[in-house]
Amino acid sequence: MLRINAERLIRDLLHLRAFGSQSSGVVRPAFSQADMQARYWLREQFEQAGLTSRIDGVGNVLGFSPHPGKALLIGSHADSQPTGGWLDGAMGVIYALEIAKSLSESDSYRHLPVDIVALQDEESRFIGCLGAKSLTGVLDDHVVRHATDKDGIRLVDALEAAGLSEVPRERLDRTRYIGFLEAHIEQGPTLEVNSKRIGIVTEIVGVRGLKAIFRGQQNHAGTTMMALRRDASTALYAFAHRINQVFAAHAAERSVWTMGRAKLVPNATSIIPGYAELDLQFRDASESQLDRFTALAYETADEIAKSSLVGVELIEARSPVAPSKMSESLYSYLERSARQHVPNAWIHMPSGAFHDAGVMADFMPSAMLFIPSIGGISHDFAEDSHRDDLILGCQVMATAVVDLLASC
Ligand SMILES: [Zn+2]
Repeated sequence: MLRINAERLIRDLLHLRAFGSQSSGVVRPAFSQADMQARYWLREQFEQAGLTSRIDGVGNVLGFSPHPGKALLIGSHADSQPTGGWLDGAMGVIYALEIAKSLSESDSYRHLPVDIVALQDEESRFIGCLGAKSLTGVLDDHVVRHATDKDGIRLVDALEAAGLSEVPRERLDRTRYIGFLEAHIEQGPTLEVNSKRIGIVTEIVGVRGLKAIFRGQQNHAGTTMMALRRDASTALYAFAHRINQVFAAHAAERSVWTMGRAKLVPNATSIIPGYAELDLQFRDASESQLDRFTALAYETADEIAKSSLVGVELIEARSPVAPSKMSESLYSYLERSARQHVPNAWIHMPSGAFHDAGVMADFMPSAMLFIPSIGGISHDFAEDSHRDDLILGCQVMATAVVDLLASC
């Protein structure tokens, strides 16, 4: 068995945490100074693990194994949310690094070809999963030229400032790889609530977003009789209430939906709103469930329009993300390893959050492993995991990597 070095794993995790560290979290958005400094450090570390390492034209840090044969790619993202936790992404990168370092020191397993990667901008400062999209050839040049962050900074200017505008973008060679493995914190409560220590991801849920637009007539709140009102807000509230009823009646076990943003115009106490908007987002692991919710949303919009004097229109609010199936033949090795290390403390589960593995899965077989997040908290400075779980997750991954490559 390949034994990881637990002390070094924690030390490297803490080292990466120091780039952009703020209170208990990190501020390391893609292409920030802290992010680029972290990437230079990672490149050096990848070299120390015996890999040929380079930073590509969108900031991915890649480490290529010199050993022949079909390789495994392992990694995650090294960028953070604007105010993020210290483990989101970072953990999967340091697992990959630790596994590469352990392999390079092992007489029995040194020959196994493992490439590792620290991906860029998973957290959507400019383009969600920018690095994974670029590596797998689905990044559109036009989109790159026009991408800006929330402050209006252009991606092309951020690349220039990071010294990357002349650097070539890497493209993965599909024929080189058996597949991609990503470890990540769960970012939710499922493992903790069920007293499990390892989650093996079966699929990553898909997301769809609709915007409901309500058009009525703005008017005086004192003089307009109730029966004559064309109140856009009343239609919005009725729609939201009805969605909560019909979605609940047709939900699958892990379906979720959110109406996280509403807009009333003119948004004043004494004016009947003439216009309103409501964002409706829903997620599920099954495409047919997403289709069902979409149909229900349209039926509900029709129903509200018919029973009020307000026009209701639904438009697509975002490009849909399809659910991604993880590769069973890959995750069976994670299962076998989990069974060996923690026989009664692992489960299969879907991922409710999106991940780089969702992009990679369209390119090559991919699988994911989760460890518990304390209190289910993530995308927050308070994000943390127990040290024992951090160590266990890496060992489970290392065992799976060796078994998988040894069986090829
Ligand atoms: Zn992440």
